[in-house]
Amino acid sequence: MDALVRVTLLARRAARAGFGAALTCGLAAFVIFGGAQYPFGPVLVAACALWSLLLITRLHSKWKLTGDAPFLLDFELGALLSVGLDAILLRFDGTLEGRFSPAIYVLVALVASFGRPLPGLLVVAWVVILDALVRYQMLGAPSYEALATQAGFACAFALLNLLLLRAEVARIRVTARARLEDELQRLRDDARSYRLLGAGEARGDGGEKTEERLARSSVEEIHQSVHYALDLLRRCLDLHTAVLLWRTDSGTHLRISELSTASDEIHDAPFSIGDGVLAAVLAKKEAVLLENLRPTYVIPYYAGGCPVRALAAIPVADDGIVRGVLALDRVDNRAFTPREHELAAQAARYCLRAIQNERVFVQLERAKVEQGKLYRAAQALGAAFSEKDVLEAGVRAAREIASFDLAAVTVWDEKARMHEVCAAKSEAGNVEDLVGQRFKPNTGLVSMVVTNRFPLPYKGEFDKTHQVVLTRRLPWPNIPSLLVLPLLHHGRALGTLILGAKRRHAFGDTVRPTLEVLASHLAVSLSNARMVQRLETMATTDGMTGLLNKRSMLEQATAKVAAASRFRRKLSVLIADIDFFKKVNDTYGHDVGDVVIKGLGDILKRQKRTTDVVARFGGEEFVVLCEQTNEDGAKLLGERIREELEKTTFHSANGQLKVTCSVGIATFPEAGATWDDLFKAADEALYASKRGGRNRVSTWQPASVARIKAG
Ligand code: GH3
Ligand code: MG
Ligand code: MG
Repeated sequence: MDALVRVTLLARRAARAGFGAALTCGLAAFVIFGGAQYPFGPVLVAACALWSLLLITRLHSKWKLTGDAPFLLDFELGALLSVGLDAILLRFDGTLEGRFSPAIYVLVALVASFGRPLPGLLVVAWVVILDALVRYQMLGAPSYEALATQAGFACAFALLNLLLLRAEVARIRVTARARLEDELQRLRDDARSYRLLGAGEARGDGGEKTEERLARSSVEEIHQSVHYALDLLRRCLDLHTAVLLWRTDSGTHLRISELSTASDEIHDAPFSIGDGVLAAVLAKKEAVLLENLRPTYVIPYYAGGCPVRALAAIPVADDGIVRGVLALDRVDNRAFTPREHELAAQAARYCLRAIQNERVFVQLERAKVEQGKLYRAAQALGAAFSEKDVLEAGVRAAREIASFDLAAVTVWDEKARMHEVCAAKSEAGNVEDLVGQRFKPNTGLVSMVVTNRFPLPYKGEFDKTHQVVLTRRLPWPNIPSLLVLPLLHHGRALGTLILGAKRRHAFGDTVRPTLEVLASHLAVSLSNARMVQRLETMATTDGMTGLLNKRSMLEQATAKVAAASRFRRKLSVLIADIDFFKKVNDTYGHDVGDVVIKGLGDILKRQKRTTDVVARFGGEEFVVLCEQTNEDGAKLLGERIREELEKTTFHSANGQLKVTCSVGIATFPEAGATWDDLFKAADEALYASKRGGRNRVSTWQPASVARIKAG
């Protein structure tokens, strides 16, 4: 049923899509069979109406479309037009070889130009076939030569037109792109010359686009304000040209920043600052007012001879340096009055203020963006609790600020006086192997940064022949950009964040301060993560032996008994207690007692399997929880522990001493189905060992057996 519905829908869709094409074919058949030459009557009128209706609906559909027209629509349009043209030719010339027959080539060229290539090609084929059928129908046996000529011409026209059009489109695209690139470059140059962007700065990250967008809107704002002032000045003072010339980024040339002029001979290219009268303005930092200028006089911003007789050039000083010149000129030989000069000076100050305002605006915007990044970084770092998460969040945040190919973090171990690489990730050489490597303080960059608490290298440029990053022993990839930042916390360097990039100048002045702040955030989070880690360790382990404490053992014990019960596995509990320990304390002192406790702890660490859990339960009593271990296995472990302690000699100020221990064992499920029962059973077994003479291993026995043994 489903298939039937699908087939019906498909057929209906095909019929709807092919309806126009079918009607076009019908009209073509009408023309082939001489319909166009019928006497004027209802049939012809109906055919004409149908053709017009189809053409209008197809044109309407094409008009409505925004992208490429569907294949069938382009073909239908071409086919309809060719049918219409053939009908007109046949009606008025009576043949397809009459005076107007070349019109068909025009049609082919038109279709090839405006449609897509494939439908265009099909229309050419359609035209040729239609032509052949019409001739065949009219003449019976058409001339193949005429047919071939017709087909050849149609194809040639279509192809030529297509190629020409595509070539033209490509040319326009290339020039438009080049013009756009020029415009952008000009904007960038302007932004640098107004000092909105840092010189030669390359960021290569998402920030570059934001910076450029910001600079672009600011340059436009400056140009608008300056143009307004110049235009006003030109109209009020009856000037020929009012122009603001500004030094290029390099400072060696002047170029037109903005102008208002009545001249069409403006020379828009940069010119040397040493050229003509403007050189004097820049050198003396004073206004120059000239009159009686001759046509031979050279004013660099005019392309031809000098069209003006009077000129005023006012220096525009930015931060004490003359960066621009406001030039005003007029065709009449009328000297600039002191009042006009004052007005011009005011306009120059206005232009300068427009530039300075935008500079402040760009700086504020930049600071806002950087702050946003730092805020997000702080949030991500604040949400990371483990050292690994902190390092990952830190590197991720750094990526938002600058683009780099390598990141590594080193930490400084104050006690051991050693540096250690604790994370390293790179797309520029293999540095992952460096993780875990330790090195002593040296003259390498990392060591120097930790000692001096200042980022290195000074300009963010790495020279492998002269600089060492970690230590000579540990190789570092040869990349041109490098920045080692101190992880400062309370004035102390906890370590370093190392960033490297394959691009030159990757760590310029715009990113360094933000990266330094990020490094401090990273340091705080790293320090917090370590504190959390220390607290966690303190809460779960026994300080003297480094084994688990009673609380964390109990947390695990219940879960392990439950797992053993669910999967029907064995589980054994061992309790080891040192014999006559009070005597050790009394004879040798508590310190020696502690050494003995640590000694048994070490033995347990050595003897246990990785899946066993060992805890100091209190005093000189230890518990071992052995998963998937039956009574025999636990007994073997107990014996090994007992034997090793028995063989161990402890040294003290009052001479050597030896101790023994007793062990009690209980196994799940025989000895107990819950942790409490199991522990109680192991304790009973331990008691049996003590009672039996100590320095022995006992397993739990059912009450009846125990009674018999006791008896
Ligand atoms: P038994 O053979 O029956 O086990 O005799 P014992 O003397 O070992 O008796 P018990 O196990 O009850 O002794 C525990 C002693 O361990 C009591 C306490 O003085 C001592 N002790 C507990 N904790 C520590 C510790 O952290 N360091 C030292 N040096 N002694 C401890
Ligand atoms: Mg004891
Ligand atoms: Mg004890």
